[in-house]
Amino acid sequence: MKIHEYQAKELLRLNKVPVPLGFVAHSLAEVREIAAKVVSFPVVVKAQIHAGGRGKGGGVKLAHSVEEVAARAEKILGMNLVTPQTGPAGKKVKKLLIEQGVSIKHEYYLSLVHDRASAGIVIMASVAGGMDIEKVAAETPEKIIKVNVNPLLGIQSYHCRNAAFLLGLPVEAIRQFNQIINSLYQLFTEKDCSQIEINPLVLTDSDQLYALDAKINFDESALFRHKEILELHDPEEDDPLEAEAARFNLNYIKLDGNVGNMVNGAGLAMATMDIIKMAGAEPANFLDVGGGANAEMVENGFRIILKDTNVKAILVNIFGGILRCDVLAQGIVQAAKNSHIDVPVVVRMEGTNVEQGRKILADSGLELITAVDLQDAAQKIGSIVGGLK
Ligand code: GDP
Ligand code: MN
Repeated sequence: MKIHEYQAKELLRLNKVPVPLGFVAHSLAEVREIAAKVVSFPVVVKAQIHAGGRGKGGGVKLAHSVEEVAARAEKILGMNLVTPQTGPAGKKVKKLLIEQGVSIKHEYYLSLVHDRASAGIVIMASVAGGMDIEKVAAETPEKIIKVNVNPLLGIQSYHCRNAAFLLGLPVEAIRQFNQIINSLYQLFTEKDCSQIEINPLVLTDSDQLYALDAKINFDESALFRHKEILELHDPEEDDPLEAEAARFNLNYIKLDGNVGNMVNGAGLAMATMDIIKMAGAEPANFLDVGGGANAEMVENGFRIILKDTNVKAILVNIFGGILRCDVLAQGIVQAAKNSHIDVPVVVRMEGTNVEQGRKILADSGLELITAVDLQDAAQKIGSIVGGLK
């Protein structure tokens, strides 16, 4: 689960990581109230959306007077912010962070993530922090340093010294850097984070370190034991189709392609997405209807897949176990009757009651394309999508 920058900074503040003084605003009136309290300029006006790259998209602006704060805020609040991370559709800005500006001597990158290779937490840092970190990672990866932490031993002072040394931090900032890393590590493990990213961590003219930006993600499977984190969830930032799917207990993740797919079982769903890609097409979603799905869930699955206007074809790939093929077939027929399916549907099913399932589909009068096996299904989807180009 993602949270907003202003919420992440509040958590940092509570954990003694220095952040600039700032307040969240939901309206222009609130912006003015906050600006009137500001001690000195510049002030930074920052769009709060669940995506990075806001600076590049015009969602982070400096202002040098109360009037300028208001003018900047008026432009950003309500705008559709398009950044390299939002996709072309962008995200509507509904909140702003109005923050005390900081004089920047240097921008560093600092993050903590799980590292599957070492089965621990890795601290990543770079002297080349700021808005071009993706370019640094792609072109000069040697500028990103990594310090692995053994989860059983926890963070040690040598981890901090190594990172500080590799970054070439000035002596004045090292003590503060150690404290920041220790606090972040504690926050990460205590709250079951999956990522903490501070980009930039800045060094000011007076050699003070500040977290100028903060992105924190949480492991959703652990949220049951962090009620206070769950309260930070902002439903307005959720993908509307994913939110609807969650209400129907469907495991759906929207993707960018044009082949919708409905599968039972997460492993089979992953394999099916691979097969769609190998056929030269791109999946429009991940959808696991679950082992125990009924006809109604299949119908809901179809409805959600079809709400995505990118979908040009659907691949149904079901291995009938607990979800029997005849139940699936009834679901497809029901869905076709209740919702208008206007794209080709390729069905591959195998397993319990497959003959009955095939008969239900054949007798339904629907124009379905049946596939004998996975390879056949992939070829059929590939040629449908290939024919669209
Ligand atoms: P992002 O683009 O979504 O990652 O948003 P950031 O919060 O990282 O802001 C983007 C950039 O704005 C930073 O890399 C800084 O260069 C700049 N910026 C943010 N806050 C301040 C500030 O207080 N003072 C100055 N001078 N620049 C800032
Ligand atoms: Mn940033």
